[in-house]
Amino acid sequence: MSVPKIVTVVGSGTMGPGIAAVFARAGSTVRVYDISEAALEMARTMSGMAEGVLEQLGGAKADGGSISFHTDLAESLAGTNFVVEAIPEKLDLKKTVLADVEKSIGDDVIIATNTSGIPVTDIAVALTHPGRFIGMHWSNPPHVIPMIEVIPGKATDKKFVTELVDMVHGFGYEAVLEKEKPGFVENRVLYAILRECLALVDEGIISQKDLDICVRWGIGYKLAVVGPMRLLDMAGLDIYSSVATYLNADLSNRADVSDFATKLVAEGKLGMKTSGGVFEYGEGDVAAKRGEIVKQFIAVRKALPAPLSPNQI
Ligand code: NAD
Repeated sequence: MSVPKIVTVVGSGTMGPGIAAVFARAGSTVRVYDISEAALEMARTMSGMAEGVLEQLGGAKADGGSISFHTDLAESLAGTNFVVEAIPEKLDLKKTVLADVEKSIGDDVIIATNTSGIPVTDIAVALTHPGRFIGMHWSNPPHVIPMIEVIPGKATDKKFVTELVDMVHGFGYEAVLEKEKPGFVENRVLYAILRECLALVDEGIISQKDLDICVRWGIGYKLAVVGPMRLLDMAGLDIYSSVATYLNADLSNRADVSDFATKLVAEGKLGMKTSGGVFEYGEGDVAAKRGEIVKQFIAVRKALPAPLSPNQI
Protein backbone atom coordinates (compact mmCIF):
# COMPACT_ATOMS: atom_id res chain seq x y z
CA MET A 1 0.00 0.00 0.00
CA SER A 2 1.32 3.46 -0.66
CA VAL A 3 -0.99 6.36 0.24
CA PRO A 4 -4.47 5.02 1.21
CA LYS A 5 -7.58 6.11 -0.69
CA ILE A 6 -9.65 6.74 2.45
CA VAL A 7 -8.05 7.63 5.80
CA THR A 8 -9.85 8.07 9.13
CA VAL A 9 -8.16 10.24 11.77
CA VAL A 10 -9.64 9.51 15.21
CA GLY A 11 -9.13 12.51 17.52
CA SER A 12 -8.60 16.06 16.28
CA GLY A 13 -6.78 18.02 18.97
CA THR A 14 -3.20 19.21 18.58
CA MET A 15 -2.07 16.40 16.24
CA GLY A 16 -5.11 15.25 14.24
CA PRO A 17 -5.58 18.29 11.94
CA GLY A 18 -1.93 18.35 10.76
CA ILE A 19 -1.97 14.58 10.16
CA ALA A 20 -5.17 14.99 8.14
CA ALA A 21 -3.60 17.76 6.04
CA VAL A 22 -0.57 15.58 5.18
CA PHE A 23 -2.77 12.73 3.90
CA ALA A 24 -5.08 15.10 2.02
CA ARG A 25 -2.12 16.67 0.23
CA ALA A 26 -1.02 13.17 -0.79
CA GLY A 27 -4.46 12.64 -2.38
CA SER A 28 -6.37 10.75 0.34
CA THR A 29 -10.01 11.32 1.21
CA VAL A 30 -9.57 12.10 4.91
CA ARG A 31 -12.32 11.84 7.51
CA VAL A 32 -11.58 13.40 10.87
CA TYR A 33 -13.60 12.06 13.82
CA ASP A 34 -13.84 13.57 17.32
CA ILE A 35 -16.34 13.31 20.16
CA SER A 36 -16.23 17.08 20.59
CA GLU A 37 -18.02 19.45 18.17
CA ALA A 38 -15.84 22.29 19.48
CA ALA A 39 -12.65 20.31 18.75
CA LEU A 40 -13.86 19.65 15.20
CA GLU A 41 -14.67 23.32 14.70
CA MET A 42 -11.14 24.23 15.78
CA ALA A 43 -9.77 21.38 13.62
CA ARG A 44 -11.34 22.94 10.50
CA THR A 45 -9.27 26.07 11.07
CA MET A 46 -6.13 24.19 12.09
CA SER A 47 -6.19 21.77 9.15
CA GLY A 48 -6.68 24.73 6.80
CA MET A 49 -3.64 26.42 8.34
CA ALA A 50 -1.65 23.18 8.06
CA GLU A 51 -2.59 22.95 4.37
CA GLY A 52 -1.26 26.50 3.96
CA VAL A 53 2.04 25.55 5.60
CA LEU A 54 2.34 22.46 3.36
CA GLU A 55 1.80 24.71 0.36
CA GLN A 56 4.64 26.97 1.55
CA LEU A 57 6.89 23.94 2.05
CA GLY A 58 6.18 23.20 -1.59
CA GLY A 59 6.33 19.37 -1.61
CA ALA A 60 4.46 17.18 -4.09
CA LYS A 61 0.67 17.57 -4.16
CA ALA A 62 -1.61 14.87 -5.52
CA ASP A 63 -5.05 15.58 -6.98
CA GLY A 64 -8.29 14.59 -5.28
CA GLY A 65 -7.41 14.99 -1.59
CA SER A 66 -10.11 16.25 0.79
CA ILE A 67 -10.89 16.54 4.52
CA SER A 68 -14.33 16.12 6.13
CA PHE A 69 -15.29 16.28 9.82
CA HIS A 70 -17.48 13.81 11.73
CA THR A 71 -18.98 13.21 15.15
CA ASP A 72 -20.34 9.80 14.09
CA LEU A 73 -17.61 7.17 14.41
CA ALA A 74 -19.23 4.56 12.14
CA GLU A 75 -19.79 7.18 9.42
CA SER A 76 -16.12 8.22 9.58
CA LEU A 77 -15.02 4.58 9.26
CA ALA A 78 -17.33 3.35 6.48
CA GLY A 79 -15.13 1.80 3.77
CA THR A 80 -11.93 3.26 5.24
CA ASN A 81 -8.52 1.90 4.18
CA PHE A 82 -6.47 3.21 7.09
CA VAL A 83 -7.10 4.46 10.63
CA VAL A 84 -4.77 6.66 12.65
CA GLU A 85 -5.66 7.31 16.26
CA ALA A 86 -4.71 10.60 17.96
CA ILE A 87 -6.87 10.75 21.08
CA PRO A 88 -5.47 11.63 24.56
CA GLU A 89 -2.52 9.67 25.96
CA LYS A 90 -4.61 7.44 28.26
CA LEU A 91 -4.22 3.67 27.93
CA ASP A 92 -7.78 2.75 28.95
CA LEU A 93 -9.35 5.36 26.66
CA LYS A 94 -7.28 4.19 23.69
CA LYS A 95 -8.24 0.56 24.38
CA THR A 96 -11.96 1.38 24.59
CA VAL A 97 -12.05 3.61 21.50
CA LEU A 98 -9.95 1.27 19.34
CA ALA A 99 -12.08 -1.74 20.29
CA ASP A 100 -15.06 0.30 18.98
CA VAL A 101 -13.17 1.29 15.84
CA GLU A 102 -12.49 -2.36 15.08
CA LYS A 103 -16.22 -3.15 14.94
CA SER A 104 -16.71 -0.88 11.90
CA ILE A 105 -13.73 -1.79 9.69
CA GLY A 106 -12.37 -4.74 7.69
CA ASP A 107 -10.04 -7.24 9.40
CA ASP A 108 -6.98 -6.18 7.39
CA VAL A 109 -7.35 -2.40 7.67
CA ILE A 110 -4.29 -1.07 9.50
CA ILE A 111 -4.99 0.75 12.76
CA ALA A 112 -2.08 2.99 13.72
CA THR A 113 -1.69 4.73 17.06
CA ASN A 114 0.07 8.07 17.46
CA THR A 115 0.77 7.33 21.13
CA SER A 116 3.80 9.24 22.38
CA GLY A 117 5.19 6.18 24.08
CA ILE A 118 2.66 3.74 25.52
CA PRO A 119 3.92 0.30 24.43
CA VAL A 120 1.91 -0.72 21.37
CA THR A 121 1.46 -4.25 22.76
CA ASP A 122 -0.29 -2.83 25.86
CA ILE A 123 -2.95 -1.18 23.67
CA ALA A 124 -3.21 -4.14 21.25
CA VAL A 125 -4.65 -6.42 23.96
CA ALA A 126 -8.01 -4.67 23.43
CA LEU A 127 -8.19 -5.73 19.77
CA THR A 128 -9.58 -8.85 18.12
CA HIS A 129 -7.06 -8.55 15.26
CA PRO A 130 -3.88 -7.16 16.87
CA GLY A 131 -1.81 -8.18 13.83
CA ARG A 132 -2.93 -5.01 12.01
CA PHE A 133 -2.17 -2.70 14.92
CA ILE A 134 1.03 -0.63 14.91
CA GLY A 135 2.64 2.50 16.37
CA MET A 136 2.96 5.49 14.03
CA HIS A 137 4.52 8.28 16.05
CA TRP A 138 4.36 11.67 14.32
CA SER A 139 6.39 14.56 15.68
CA ASN A 140 4.64 17.85 16.48
CA PRO A 141 3.82 19.79 14.27
CA PRO A 142 3.02 16.73 12.14
CA HIS A 143 2.66 18.69 8.89
CA VAL A 144 6.14 20.20 9.34
CA ILE A 145 8.38 17.45 10.77
CA PRO A 146 8.94 14.90 7.98
CA MET A 147 9.86 11.92 10.16
CA ILE A 148 7.66 9.20 11.63
CA GLU A 149 8.66 6.47 14.06
CA VAL A 150 7.16 3.10 13.10
CA ILE A 151 6.83 0.72 16.05
CA PRO A 152 5.42 -2.77 15.63
CA GLY A 153 3.98 -4.45 18.72
CA LYS A 154 4.63 -8.09 19.60
CA ALA A 155 1.60 -9.22 17.55
CA THR A 156 2.01 -6.89 14.54
CA ASP A 157 2.12 -8.75 11.24
CA LYS A 158 5.32 -8.00 9.25
CA LYS A 159 3.33 -7.31 6.07
CA PHE A 160 1.63 -4.35 7.78
CA VAL A 161 5.00 -2.99 8.93
CA THR A 162 6.16 -2.96 5.30
CA GLU A 163 2.87 -1.40 4.18
CA LEU A 164 3.15 1.38 6.75
CA VAL A 165 6.76 2.19 5.86
CA ASP A 166 5.79 2.34 2.15
CA MET A 167 2.86 4.58 3.00
CA VAL A 168 5.05 7.02 4.97
CA HIS A 169 7.51 7.14 2.07
CA GLY A 170 4.49 7.62 -0.24
CA PHE A 171 3.71 10.98 1.33
CA GLY A 172 7.37 11.98 1.29
CA TYR A 173 8.31 11.42 4.96
CA GLU A 174 11.20 9.50 6.48
CA ALA A 175 10.12 6.34 8.35
CA VAL A 176 12.34 4.99 11.13
CA LEU A 177 11.65 1.44 12.26
CA GLU A 178 12.11 0.71 15.96
CA LYS A 179 11.68 -2.06 18.49
CA GLU A 180 9.15 -1.39 21.21
CA LYS A 181 10.43 0.58 24.21
CA PRO A 182 8.47 3.02 26.46
CA GLY A 183 8.67 6.56 25.04
CA PHE A 184 10.07 5.18 21.77
CA VAL A 185 13.33 6.74 20.58
CA GLU A 186 12.50 10.38 19.88
CA ASN A 187 10.86 11.02 23.24
CA ARG A 188 13.50 9.07 25.17
CA VAL A 189 16.17 11.36 23.72
CA LEU A 190 14.04 14.50 24.15
CA TYR A 191 13.17 13.65 27.76
CA ALA A 192 16.83 12.98 28.58
CA ILE A 193 17.61 16.50 27.30
CA LEU A 194 14.66 18.06 29.12
CA ARG A 195 15.57 16.32 32.40
CA GLU A 196 19.08 17.73 32.30
CA CYS A 197 17.87 21.22 31.26
CA LEU A 198 15.33 21.35 34.10
CA ALA A 199 17.90 20.05 36.59
CA LEU A 200 20.26 22.90 35.60
CA VAL A 201 17.42 25.42 36.06
CA ASP A 202 16.45 23.82 39.41
CA GLU A 203 20.06 24.21 40.57
CA GLY A 204 20.22 27.86 39.41
CA ILE A 205 23.16 27.15 37.09
CA ILE A 206 21.65 29.16 34.22
CA SER A 207 18.59 31.31 33.50
CA GLN A 208 15.76 29.90 31.38
CA LYS A 209 16.49 32.41 28.62
CA ASP A 210 20.22 31.65 28.45
CA LEU A 211 19.53 27.93 28.60
CA ASP A 212 17.42 28.20 25.43
CA ILE A 213 20.11 30.24 23.69
CA CYS A 214 22.82 27.77 24.72
CA VAL A 215 20.89 24.69 23.60
CA ARG A 216 19.50 26.21 20.39
CA TRP A 217 22.86 27.40 19.07
CA GLY A 218 25.19 24.95 20.80
CA ILE A 219 23.23 21.76 20.19
CA GLY A 220 20.05 22.39 18.19
CA TYR A 221 21.69 24.12 15.22
CA LYS A 222 24.32 21.37 15.05
CA LEU A 223 21.78 18.55 15.39
CA ALA A 224 19.69 19.94 12.53
CA VAL A 225 22.68 19.21 10.29
CA VAL A 226 24.39 16.16 11.87
CA GLY A 227 22.76 13.49 14.03
CA PRO A 228 24.27 12.32 17.35
CA MET A 229 26.02 9.33 15.75
CA ARG A 230 27.74 11.49 13.11
CA LEU A 231 28.52 14.03 15.84
CA LEU A 232 30.51 11.33 17.68
CA ASP A 233 32.61 10.84 14.55
CA MET A 234 33.12 14.59 14.22
CA ALA A 235 34.15 15.06 17.86
CA GLY A 236 36.22 11.86 18.04
CA LEU A 237 35.15 8.84 20.07
CA ASP A 238 38.26 9.17 22.25
CA ILE A 239 37.19 12.68 23.27
CA TYR A 240 33.64 11.50 23.90
CA SER A 241 34.89 8.61 26.05
CA SER A 242 37.19 10.83 28.12
CA VAL A 243 34.43 13.37 28.83
CA ALA A 244 31.81 10.67 29.48
CA THR A 245 34.15 9.07 32.05
CA TYR A 246 33.77 12.01 34.47
CA LEU A 247 30.53 13.64 33.21
CA ASN A 248 28.06 10.75 32.97
CA ALA A 249 28.10 10.19 36.72
CA ASP A 250 27.31 13.88 37.31
CA LEU A 251 24.31 14.13 34.97
CA SER A 252 20.80 14.19 36.39
CA ASN A 253 19.29 10.76 36.95
CA ARG A 254 16.31 12.12 38.83
CA ALA A 255 13.29 9.81 38.49
CA ASP A 256 10.63 12.33 39.57
CA VAL A 257 9.61 15.63 37.92
CA SER A 258 11.78 18.74 38.37
CA ASP A 259 10.88 21.23 41.14
CA PHE A 260 10.69 24.08 38.63
CA ALA A 261 8.18 22.27 36.38
CA THR A 262 6.16 20.94 39.34
CA LYS A 263 5.76 24.47 40.76
CA LEU A 264 4.59 25.91 37.42
CA VAL A 265 2.04 23.13 36.97
CA ALA A 266 0.72 23.68 40.54
CA GLU A 267 0.27 27.40 39.69
CA GLY A 268 -1.66 26.52 36.51
CA LYS A 269 1.13 27.94 34.35
CA LEU A 270 1.08 25.34 31.58
CA GLY A 271 2.69 27.31 28.76
CA MET A 272 1.21 28.89 25.64
CA LYS A 273 -2.22 27.35 26.26
CA THR A 274 -2.53 29.32 29.54
CA SER A 275 -0.64 32.38 28.29
CA GLY A 276 2.15 31.71 30.75
CA GLY A 277 4.55 28.92 31.65
CA VAL A 278 8.34 29.13 31.64
CA PHE A 279 7.87 32.47 29.86
CA GLU A 280 4.98 34.96 30.11
CA TYR A 281 2.81 35.83 27.09
CA GLY A 282 0.82 39.06 26.83
CA GLU A 283 -2.17 39.75 24.61
CA GLY A 284 -1.36 38.58 21.07
CA ASP A 285 2.09 37.22 22.02
CA VAL A 286 1.16 33.55 21.68
CA ALA A 287 -0.16 33.90 18.13
CA ALA A 288 2.86 36.02 17.17
CA LYS A 289 5.33 33.53 18.68
CA ARG A 290 3.61 30.54 17.05
CA GLY A 291 3.68 32.35 13.67
CA GLU A 292 7.38 33.16 14.08
CA ILE A 293 8.18 29.54 15.02
CA VAL A 294 6.33 28.13 11.97
CA LYS A 295 8.10 30.66 9.71
CA GLN A 296 11.49 29.51 11.03
CA PHE A 297 10.53 25.81 10.73
CA ILE A 298 9.70 26.40 7.06
CA ALA A 299 12.93 28.33 6.40
CA VAL A 300 15.15 25.74 8.15
CA ARG A 301 13.42 22.82 6.48
CA LYS A 302 13.92 24.42 3.07
CA ALA A 303 17.63 24.86 3.83
CA LEU A 304 18.09 21.16 4.71
CA PRO A 305 18.28 18.21 2.29
CA ALA A 306 14.76 17.04 1.42
CA PRO A 307 13.50 14.01 3.33
CA LEU A 308 14.21 10.75 1.49
CA SER A 309 17.15 12.31 -0.39
CA PRO A 310 20.33 10.19 -0.18
CA ASN A 311 22.36 12.56 2.04
CA GLN A 312 20.18 12.34 5.15
CA ILE A 313 22.87 11.45 7.65
P1 NAD B 1 -5.23 16.53 22.38
O1 NAD B 1 -5.64 16.38 23.77
O2 NAD B 1 -4.81 17.86 21.85
O3 NAD B 1 -6.42 16.02 21.41
C1 NAD B 1 -7.10 14.82 21.62
C2 NAD B 1 -8.44 14.90 20.92
O4 NAD B 1 -9.10 13.66 21.11
C3 NAD B 1 -9.36 16.00 21.47
O5 NAD B 1 -9.83 16.79 20.41
C4 NAD B 1 -10.49 15.22 22.13
O6 NAD B 1 -11.77 15.86 21.99
C5 NAD B 1 -10.46 13.93 21.34
N1 NAD B 1 -11.06 12.81 22.04
C6 NAD B 1 -11.08 12.55 23.37
N2 NAD B 1 -11.74 11.41 23.59
C7 NAD B 1 -12.14 10.95 22.39
C8 NAD B 1 -12.88 9.82 21.96
N3 NAD B 1 -13.35 8.94 22.84
N4 NAD B 1 -13.10 9.65 20.64
C9 NAD B 1 -12.64 10.56 19.75
N5 NAD B 1 -11.94 11.67 20.08
C10 NAD B 1 -11.70 11.84 21.39
O7 NAD B 1 -4.10 15.42 22.13
P2 NAD B 1 -2.87 15.51 21.11
O8 NAD B 1 -1.80 16.37 21.69
O9 NAD B 1 -3.39 15.75 19.74
O10 NAD B 1 -2.32 14.01 21.25
C11 NAD B 1 -2.99 12.93 20.66
C12 NAD B 1 -2.08 11.71 20.74
O11 NAD B 1 -0.89 12.01 20.02
C13 NAD B 1 -1.64 11.34 22.15
O12 NAD B 1 -1.50 9.96 22.25
C14 NAD B 1 -0.32 12.06 22.29
O13 NAD B 1 0.51 11.47 23.27
C15 NAD B 1 0.23 11.89 20.90
N6 NAD B 1 1.24 12.88 20.49
C16 NAD B 1 1.14 14.17 20.86
C17 NAD B 1 2.10 15.10 20.47
C18 NAD B 1 2.02 16.54 20.87
O14 NAD B 1 3.03 17.25 20.78
N7 NAD B 1 0.85 17.03 21.29
C19 NAD B 1 3.20 14.68 19.68
C20 NAD B 1 3.26 13.33 19.28
C21 NAD B 1 2.28 12.44 19.71
